[in-house]
Amino acid sequence: MPSPDVMDQYETVIGLEVHCQLSTNTKIYCSCPTSFGAAPNSNVCPVCLGLPGALPVLNKRAVEMAVQAAFALNCRVNPFSRLARKNYFYPDLPKGYQISQFNQPLAEFGHLDIVVNGTGERIGVTRIHIEDDAGKSIHDGFRDSERYSYVDLNRCGTPLIEIVSEPDMRSSEGAYQYLTALKQALQFVEVSTCDMEKGHLRCDANVSVRRRGAEQFGTKVEIKNLNSFRFVKMAIDYEVARQVAMVERGQRIAQETRLYDVGNGETVSMRSKEQAHDYRYFPEPDLVPLEVSEEWAGTLRKAMPELPDAKRKRFVETYGLRDYDAQVLTLTRPLSEYYERAAAASSDAKAAANWVMGDLLGALKAEGKEITESPVTPEQLGELVSLIGNGEISGKLAKEIFPKMFAGGESARTIIDREGLKQISDTGALESIIDEVLAANPKQVEQYRGGKTGIIGFLVGQVMKASRGQANPQVVNDLLRAKL
Ligand code: ADP
Ligand code: ZN
Ligand code: MG
Repeated sequence: MPSPDVMDQYETVIGLEVHCQLSTNTKIYCSCPTSFGAAPNSNVCPVCLGLPGALPVLNKRAVEMAVQAAFALNCRVNPFSRLARKNYFYPDLPKGYQISQFNQPLAEFGHLDIVVNGTGERIGVTRIHIEDDAGKSIHDGFRDSERYSYVDLNRCGTPLIEIVSEPDMRSSEGAYQYLTALKQALQFVEVSTCDMEKGHLRCDANVSVRRRGAEQFGTKVEIKNLNSFRFVKMAIDYEVARQVAMVERGQRIAQETRLYDVGNGETVSMRSKEQAHDYRYFPEPDLVPLEVSEEWAGTLRKAMPELPDAKRKRFVETYGLRDYDAQVLTLTRPLSEYYERAAAASSDAKAAANWVMGDLLGALKAEGKEITESPVTPEQLGELVSLIGNGEISGKLAKEIFPKMFAGGESARTIIDREGLKQISDTGALESIIDEVLAANPKQVEQYRGGKTGIIGFLVGQVMKASRGQANPQVVNDLLRAKL
């Protein structure tokens, strides 16, 4: 790897191509189910098997989801686009072609705003198009000590969108932030789960380097099939160092497709430009052009949920949250909805935010649970916050009650009533405790009267202890001062 000084003389240029599986119940050109984990080759029909004479019918729901994805990424949806055949041979592609889109895609001219190391950047989204997924080849089959490859065609015809970015990213961290923002937006709109483990989000990274200040881009290398954001970052870092080293040695970068070998942490050549596929695109003759009327697009736009950026800003304005806290609470749509319900049920939206981000998320993380699996409902958390707010319990007591709520799913009120945990604000009850404490600590009383008023903290602590944490600290403070 070249020295940091040498690396510093170069600029990285990255463009990403992301394939994302839409969450429809059925496939894009037939009505087979898209369910995950079905028996191999059971979710198939003549259309997705590519049998002669079978005709595709475009799934309306898939188009709707793609249009909403386009809105989420600030794209312009074309009123008129075309499906196109992309021809290539592969054992898990029985039709011998994908039905994709080529020079007239569904949507174009979008962008995503991201923050990279504290600086805001706008990344262009070139285009979004719809297409069908291929099946799956499984190469690790063994039978009678012979090696077999198997093919499972259940995934054939699963609806995908491909999201192509402009070559606007300038670091692997930028690529990571773009992918994070992309996934967040698509999850908010609920057009995809973006579950990488199930292959619902896959990424190809195009990487080149150029000397700082150079106008022309360097030759790009495409790294295919990256299936985690961390691997995207690692693969880019490796590839940038490899390219800089080559340029430094006076070698030319070859335009090629490479794969990232996770085990070795290196990219390896898969095919050169000469071996690149010629897809022989042509308009799909079995489907009419795709028209998205203004009216249809308008209906879909109206049905859009609030997007992460807008929600973050609203949380700051409506609830008085710090920007960072608003960002944490809008990381996912379920978390943001949990928070809003908790805030609505509480007397203090800011305190509710602290409880969600602190105790609740901490407890969930410790048990490996999602926010949607929280044993404490947002209304219960809101009630806890209100009980502190109106002085029924102290903050300290609340910290003890919360784990009990989390463990048993009971409300704070139920636990307080059963365990007699109510905060004691009644002056009569407190006065007798205070009298005992004052009698037991004559030295400190002397010190206070001698002008060392800070000692009152010690006395308050003694009263709290004697009341098993149930005394209202403010009332104790007032009573103590009066008596002293
Ligand atoms: P191709 O014709 O090889 O498919 P495209 O121009 O369609 O190339 O771009 C594919 C992806 O590569 C896009 O995401 C684009 O932003 C990115 N890209 C294009 N040129 C470069 C470059 N010089 N360096 C890095 N990424 C690039
Ligand atoms: Zn089918
Ligand atoms: Mg291209």
